[in-house]
Amino acid sequence: MDIVYVDNNATTRVADEVIEEMLPFYGQFYGNPSSMHTFGGSVGKKVKEARQRVADLIHADPEEIIFTSCGTESDNTAIHAALLARPDRKHIITSKVEHPAVDNYFKVLEKQGYRVTWVDVDKHGRLDLEQLYKSMTDDTAVISLMWANNETGVIFPIEEITAKSREKDILFHTDAVQAAGKVTIDVSRVAVDMLSISGHKIHAPKGVAALYVRKGFKLSPYMIGGHQEKGRRGGTENTAAIIGLGKACELAGHHLDEMNTRVRELRDYLEKELLEKIPASSVNGDPEHRLPNTLSIGFDAVEGESILLMLDREGICASSGSACTSGSLEPSHVLMAMEVPFKSAHGSIRFSLSCYNTREEMDHIVNAMVPTIQRLRDMSPFWKDGKMV
Ligand SMILES: *Cc1c(COP(=O)(O)O)cnc(C)c1O
Repeated sequence: MDIVYVDNNATTRVADEVIEEMLPFYGQFYGNPSSMHTFGGSVGKKVKEARQRVADLIHADPEEIIFTSCGTESDNTAIHAALLARPDRKHIITSKVEHPAVDNYFKVLEKQGYRVTWVDVDKHGRLDLEQLYKSMTDDTAVISLMWANNETGVIFPIEEITAKSREKDILFHTDAVQAAGKVTIDVSRVAVDMLSISGHKIHAPKGVAALYVRKGFKLSPYMIGGHQEKGRRGGTENTAAIIGLGKACELAGHHLDEMNTRVRELRDYLEKELLEKIPASSVNGDPEHRLPNTLSIGFDAVEGESILLMLDREGICASSGSACTSGSLEPSHVLMAMEVPFKSAHGSIRFSLSCYNTREEMDHIVNAMVPTIQRLRDMSPFWKDGKMV
């Protein structure tokens, strides 16, 4: 059975062009770019090219790009460095809907004595800007806010926010892992000090990522070791993966238009069909400011996990809005922060598309979803006479 893969916000297929570019750097050109000999040095040239390609995707200077092992490391590095750069400040700001790579780090910092403002979102997942602006003080060391949400696709107005944080001399980090390759990112227009992207969300391999660090900000390393990355990140470079990341960023730039036309149309088509054909269904997240590839949709009176299991049998890979950590079926912190009603938060599914998806696949999903939801509702104690009770 062919797989219909619509879980691209979790991870993506490595593009053929990326694999092709990486392969020689395992068996053939395996040198260490820090070595004195030409053999190693030639790998360094390809790493340099990759740095340029990553920089180009976000309109940065290559010297502002540091390679890391994952989006999580980029996020942690940025926050850690900001706190070291502002040692006297004890207040930090983030939102209630961040990825665990930021959210859980902030929880640790709170335990260590930092005062944290967790900015609210409204029922559409939009940031409470008034609360955010009021919370910025002379004691605020860093603000970390995601560019786009991984569960709902909601886009935060980073440009507008950074104009305010810059005024108050507060360091600003954005987790742009989901935004990269889906919306235009131009660091020359947006006053972020640091910005994270991750390879495996944009058709590069898992285990490679980048952190943009604005020129002039002296970043203390998180990974302390050798002089790699100009002393900003120790550890021998994951050369093949870095070269893959560079290629993936180049492709992402080329595919940006397609993402915002063809892929957006596929997503909109899937959304329209599901809303039309399945009663008591609703979209989670601001439809106006949303990634072109993401659809989070809730179905009253059913459980996301049950939907996923039934879709799995049809070869459809999606994801639920609820994270079943420790066996308890709690709705995700993102949907809870949005105060999505419990019974539709429970029945929420995330479809996240890529340039590899087709119209036929969207029809296959709709054809599987309609009877699936019907069958689950027939068994649900919360569903009677065509509505939720
Ligand atoms: C996937 C993801 C991360 C983590 O990236 P890894 O490379 O898996 O560590 C961070 N933030 C967001 C928004 C993500 O979607």
